[in-house]
Amino acid sequence: MNALTVAKFGGTSVADYAAMSKCASVIKGNESTRLVVISACSGVTNLLVELANGVSSLEKQKALLTRLQEIHFSILASLPENEAVNTAVNDILDTVATFAAAAAKAPSDKITDSLVACGELMSTHIFTHLLNQQGLDAVRFDVRDALKTDDVHGKASPDLIETAYQAQTLLRPLCEEKVVVTQGFIGSDNKGNTTTLGRGGSDYSAALLAEAVQATTLEIWTDVPGIYSTDPRIAPAAAPIDEISFSEASEMANFGAKILHPSTLVPAMRQEIPVFVGSSKAPEKGGTWIRRDAEHSPLFRALALRCNQTMVTLTSLNMFHAYGFLAEVFNILAKHKVSVDLITTSEVSVSLTLDQTNTSGGAPKLPEAAELELSKLCKVTVEQDMCLVALIGNEMGESRGAAAQIFGALGEYNLRMICYGASNHNLCFLTNTAESKDVVRTLHKELFEK
Ligand code: ASP
Ligand code: MG
Repeated sequence: MNALTVAKFGGTSVADYAAMSKCASVIKGNESTRLVVISACSGVTNLLVELANGVSSLEKQKALLTRLQEIHFSILASLPENEAVNTAVNDILDTVATFAAAAAKAPSDKITDSLVACGELMSTHIFTHLLNQQGLDAVRFDVRDALKTDDVHGKASPDLIETAYQAQTLLRPLCEEKVVVTQGFIGSDNKGNTTTLGRGGSDYSAALLAEAVQATTLEIWTDVPGIYSTDPRIAPAAAPIDEISFSEASEMANFGAKILHPSTLVPAMRQEIPVFVGSSKAPEKGGTWIRRDAEHSPLFRALALRCNQTMVTLTSLNMFHAYGFLAEVFNILAKHKVSVDLITTSEVSVSLTLDQTNTSGGAPKLPEAAELELSKLCKVTVEQDMCLVALIGNEMGESRGAAAQIFGALGEYNLRMICYGASNHNLCFLTNTAESKDVVRTLHKELFEK
């Protein structure tokens, strides 16, 4: 087998029978598609997270379970010969009920992972059956046998060597025979416990699997026809991008263009696997190719917005002309597993924002223990209700007049934590949430609509 495409379909792509059928057409349209990675049906992971957080009211628990049942059985109702799948889905729903009861007593990250994994476990049963009904020779594969991770529940990291080994031994040979359908988002640690890669992690799973089976192309099918110069819901004049480089696209993914999970491109870049992003609902609209090098490298490529930012400012006179202060700060953050995103510094203070990718979502929190320890060293101020605007492009740091054009257009706004120059591919800053969309619109107009 030479060409091997891994195709990933997100939650909205497998939301219902009609959406799933569109995915089946996409798969049928490309003979090289042998590995299909899918998310839970739209909305399912949210319901499961709610149960995992612990629902004490039995009535509420039951209502959530009923909702889950409805979503899956409304798809199954359209599929003939569904007895075996019905049973499989019912069994998983029983598991959900058991874990939900356990979580109501004492929620834990471990229970959460086992519970939220059920979404993908159900959707893959249904989708495999649908493909078989539509004439494809498809088989379901439990990804926990191949995608091996550490045991950090809620945001596990892949064990690349073990995953490559299992994928080569178990998965690749299966792909030679059939279309293999497997779960995104989930994996298992070396004890066999279920883990997850963080919310939206199916893209990352697909990329990791593409790397592990040595695929030639990775397709990410979602509900938008590719990557745009910014979110068209914010700026309707946003334009689609045909081709973009790995470096630019990873900056975009990282800075909140919600199209791709931020880690997705890492495995693709390691193996130089071209990535296509398109809409399973309208494949004819085309999409965006992400490759090592794009043919065109414009100064300004796109604008991304990421809200729910937590900004931490640390101030201390001890920082003044001292050495080792920042090392100490970062040691404390590392000890408490706090991942830092942006940083700006002055002589006596440093501001940083926190990364957010854990399963429970929301604005990231500075752990209390970390705050306490930092407070012994310096004054700690935590601010929320802020959004990060990222401008992605090429050679921005080396271009005369770029800064004037960008900041000139934003004269009336209050911008904070401006980070410019570390990467030639991005410039970012924070704004308050209320103004953030206006800031994006204004900047998009200035840089992309003239
Ligand atoms: N189902 C998971 C989520 O909703 C993973 C994914 O869709 O990528 O976060
Ligand atoms: Mg998703």
